[in-house]
Amino acid sequence: MSKNYIVGFPRIGEQRELKRVLEEFWAKKCSFENVQNVASKLKKRHWEYQRDAGIDFISSNDFSLYDNMLDTSLMLGAIPKRFANLKNEELYFAMARGNASTVAMEMTKWFNTNYHYIVPELSKEDNYSLNASKIVDEYNEAKSLGIKTKINIIGPITYLGLSKRADGGDVYEFWGKIVPIYEELLKTISTLDDDVIVQIDEPIFVKEPDMKMLSLIKPTYDRLAAVSPNIKIAVVTYFEHSCEATKILVHTPIWALGLDFLNGDENLQSLEIIAKSDKKLIAGVVDGRNIWRCDIAKTITLLENISKVVTKENILISSSCSLLHSPFALKYEEEMSSEIKEWLSFALEKLDEISLISKLFFDGKSSLDEAQKEALKSNEKANEDRKNSPLIHDKAVQERVKNRALLQREGDAKERLKLQREILGYSDLVTTTIGSFPQTPEIRKARSDFKGAFISKDEYEKEIKKYIDECVAFQEECGLEILVHGEPERNDMVEYFGEQLKGYGFSQNGWVQSYGSRCVKPPFIYGDISRPKSMTVEWITYAQSKTKHIMKGMLTGPVTILNWSFVRDDMPRGEVSKQIAVALSDEIDDLQKAGIKIIQVDEAAFKEGYPLRSEKIKVYEAWATRDFKIAVSSAKKETQIHTHMCYSEFNDIINTIEDMDADVISIETARSGNELLKIFKKVGYTKEVGPGVYDIHSPRVPSVEEIVKQIELLLEVLPKEQLWINPDCGLKTRKWEEVKPSLKNMVEAVKIVRKKL
Ligand code: GLN
Ligand code: ZN
Repeated sequence: MSKNYIVGFPRIGEQRELKRVLEEFWAKKCSFENVQNVASKLKKRHWEYQRDAGIDFISSNDFSLYDNMLDTSLMLGAIPKRFANLKNEELYFAMARGNASTVAMEMTKWFNTNYHYIVPELSKEDNYSLNASKIVDEYNEAKSLGIKTKINIIGPITYLGLSKRADGGDVYEFWGKIVPIYEELLKTISTLDDDVIVQIDEPIFVKEPDMKMLSLIKPTYDRLAAVSPNIKIAVVTYFEHSCEATKILVHTPIWALGLDFLNGDENLQSLEIIAKSDKKLIAGVVDGRNIWRCDIAKTITLLENISKVVTKENILISSSCSLLHSPFALKYEEEMSSEIKEWLSFALEKLDEISLISKLFFDGKSSLDEAQKEALKSNEKANEDRKNSPLIHDKAVQERVKNRALLQREGDAKERLKLQREILGYSDLVTTTIGSFPQTPEIRKARSDFKGAFISKDEYEKEIKKYIDECVAFQEECGLEILVHGEPERNDMVEYFGEQLKGYGFSQNGWVQSYGSRCVKPPFIYGDISRPKSMTVEWITYAQSKTKHIMKGMLTGPVTILNWSFVRDDMPRGEVSKQIAVALSDEIDDLQKAGIKIIQVDEAAFKEGYPLRSEKIKVYEAWATRDFKIAVSSAKKETQIHTHMCYSEFNDIINTIEDMDADVISIETARSGNELLKIFKKVGYTKEVGPGVYDIHSPRVPSVEEIVKQIELLLEVLPKEQLWINPDCGLKTRKWEEVKPSLKNMVEAVKIVRKKL
């Protein structure tokens, strides 16, 4: 009688087949029919994997050629005017990626994940109408293979809550326009079969709820659940608790509620009202966005506790969210140590876990066949081994980190900056860059050839040195004042450090979709973190030896390293981050001892680590700030600490930024004017700031006049003594042909402004 459920499945393909065919299609190397063929094959394979693993509730419409929010916009006919002359796949991919004459729709992060969705653009003039073909086709596609699916759709409240309006008005005003289309959709779905389950994703319910949003829940689900007696609606939330929404949903005629019990303990408090309502509970108990093998014994205990309140018959055992957020399968990992591999579970392995857990929970141990008994034993053993493995536990690290109280840097910022300015001797409106310079095909090749042992260490180092030499020469010629080495040795700002830290692991094929055809392969932290030897000193000191200018040292900060990795689940995130911070503080000390006078500690992902719920923000801010400060605590007064953050919205976090106590912060502002910078003035920010003066995300070369104007705008907000002049972010994605004239213009612009002052 076991009943288990998968919220959604990855679609990029175990060998990233979808990525490959899409990119070929975009490069006009294959037809759209090829894309559709690959898509069909993938869907079939994914359904079969789930069926063969013994999953009862498998989804259709969880597949997408680009993004399922984009699919929802097309389902609703919410197509911005500028795409009006396009059709079919041309329309679809133009909305996602733009074309020669039309800019793409905006893209942003899906809650606190690294998945990006296409932001719906709503406008008063638009008329919406239903296009259900993708949903209908996918359902029938599965049905023709003998697989009856539940249909996944994104809920109307989440859809609206994540959209934006051209006129900046309240998005929920469109409720009256789109709910009838959802009703029509359900009517269409009701004709597909005698009975159909529709999973409606409403992750917006886990965010800090607002009154308006809450007030829409009952009318929405009263209406949707009334459309047809042969449709059962499951409203699913994930990534946090959704207690407020649950209180309302239990009073609507929906069939089931999906809750995440791993990332929202508070959901346990909803059990009582769910039990009273007699709704099904889709219990998210296997982590859908981590890579660790589930601890089945622990999961069974959790389920037993749940079933003390909600009767077993009403429980479905589920992944905590769509498996979209975990890598596909372990079978391609050939290089990983077998010991570590035993501790991991990717999407395919998670299917087996969920299937086994439900068998065990509903039918008892005696119902397991031999293979299942073996699987259970192996799970127990793996979890036991992991707990006790010497690979994980490093007493020396633990002791050191435990005793590491927060060390405040010497002196206050004002005093430090005065001293630093004397020593470093830079002028007002000093120019610099954020760290990386263009990653050329040659440099990528050198790195990968060295990794694959096709070239010797000597040959590799020669290439890197050549790059650094040229990079330094260009910066000198261009007239930049504080130089960087260009980061040619780094593949990625987290991976580079992960590879050199003990306690970090890597996969060969652990790809997770980030957006469209783009995937990332985050490294994973499995054990206590330490730094066997210095990680950046060699290249930075080499670069410094090539110039009389000051060379900035370049590190990735502890919070960003953490947020862009899969993190061990046997220790609080704040503890892991503290270990990274202690390791980085040693690195900073080494750099300083090697004569490096300015060190930048990038915290590009500081903001994206923020919890979804305000009550949890304080805790995050406390350890994130503490760990940044621990990392830089080894810096002497005269060593200038910079940080860089890749965004401009600082209003909510300005006090935290201030508290991080970096001497200089560079941020992104080029795209948003200086409006957002005003907060620095408002709070009386005393440290120095480098607001990006041009947008590096576009290949466009900004003119001298334009940059002069931008600097003058900045000067209206902050005094010249406080301002640094730099681009928005690192230059690694740009080409030298774009970077050279842009930076020359930037330096030229500073000269002009200085003269005027
Ligand atoms: N120092 C890094 C670089 O320039 C920073 C990148 C980032 O902020 N994402 O590439
Ligand atoms: Zn950046």
